[in-house]
Amino acid sequence: MTTFSTLYNYFSSNPGFFLFSVFLLSLIVGSFLNVVIYRLPIMLKREWKTDCMGFLSDDIEKDLSVDALLNKTEAIKKDHETFNLSIPRSRCPSCGHQITVLENIPVISWLFLRGKCSACHSSISIRYPFVELSTALLSVLVAHTFGVQWFTLAALILTWSLISLSMIDFDTQLLPDNITLPLMWTGVLISLLSLSNISLENSIIGLMAGYGSLWSIYHLFKLITGKEGMGFGDFKLLAVLGAWLGWQALPLILLLSALVGSIIGVLLILLLGRDKNIPIPFGPYLASAGFISLLWGEAIKQFYFNLVLN
Ligand SMILES: [Zn+2]
Repeated sequence: MTTFSTLYNYFSSNPGFFLFSVFLLSLIVGSFLNVVIYRLPIMLKREWKTDCMGFLSDDIEKDLSVDALLNKTEAIKKDHETFNLSIPRSRCPSCGHQITVLENIPVISWLFLRGKCSACHSSISIRYPFVELSTALLSVLVAHTFGVQWFTLAALILTWSLISLSMIDFDTQLLPDNITLPLMWTGVLISLLSLSNISLENSIIGLMAGYGSLWSIYHLFKLITGKEGMGFGDFKLLAVLGAWLGWQALPLILLLSALVGSIIGVLLILLLGRDKNIPIPFGPYLASAGFISLLWGEAIKQFYFNLVLN
C-alpha cells in the first residue's frame, strides 16, 4: 500500500515522468499486441478445426482410404504442436530466423534493421512499429486526459483491447469472444467498484442496449434486404462500449462510427480503388468511435447541447 501511495505521489508531482513511463510501458504492450493480433486468430481457427474434426471424425473414418487417413493423422499432429501467445518464439516468416531479444525492441529494432530481417534481408512490415507507436501515443493521450488515478489503468486496458480488436477485425473479420466477453464484464465491474463516474445501473443498461440495438438493426436489415450487414462480434463490441461508457454514450458512438465508417469507406474506394462490394469490417469504426467517446464524449455532448440551446 505504501509503495502505491509513494508511486502515486511521485507520479502526481512529476506529470512528465508519468507520461513518459506510460509511453515506455505502452511501447512494450504494443509489441505484445502485435503478437496477439497475429496469433489469436490462428489459435482460434486451430481450435475450431480440431472441434469440427472431432465432431465429424466418426462419420468420415468409415469412408476414408488408408492414404487419406495417414494424411489426416499428419495434419492433426501438425495442428497439435504447441502454438499460443508465447510459444513458439517469433521467427522471420521468410527464412525462419529466430528473432533475438535485441531485434525485438519496439520501434527501435525495426528502425535499426531498416525494416529488414537480419538474416535474409526480406522486409519486415511497417505495421509492427506502426502498431507499437500508435499504442504508445494513444496511451499517452489517455494518461494525459485522465491523470494519475486507477481509472487511467482501466482506460488503458480498454484502449489496448480496442486496438487489438480493430486490427484483428480488419485482418480476419473476427472480433474474438476471448477479448469482447471479459471486456464486457470488466466494464460492469469498473462501475461496481465506482472507478468511473458511470453508475452500475447505466453500465448494465448500456451493456444490454448496446447488444440489443445492433441486434435489432441486424435483423431489420436482414428482413428488408435479405443480407447480413454485420456480425455478432459487432453486437458484443457495442455492448462492451455501453458497459464502459453508460447507455447515454451509445447514440454518439453509433453516429460517430457511421460517420468515420463512411469517410474511410469513401476514401478507400477513391484512393485505393477498393472494390465497393468487398465488405468493410464495422469493428474498427465502432472501436474508434468508442475511443473518441471515452476521451471526449462529455465535451462533444456539451458542445452539441450549447449549439442546440443557443
Ligand atoms: Zn529472414
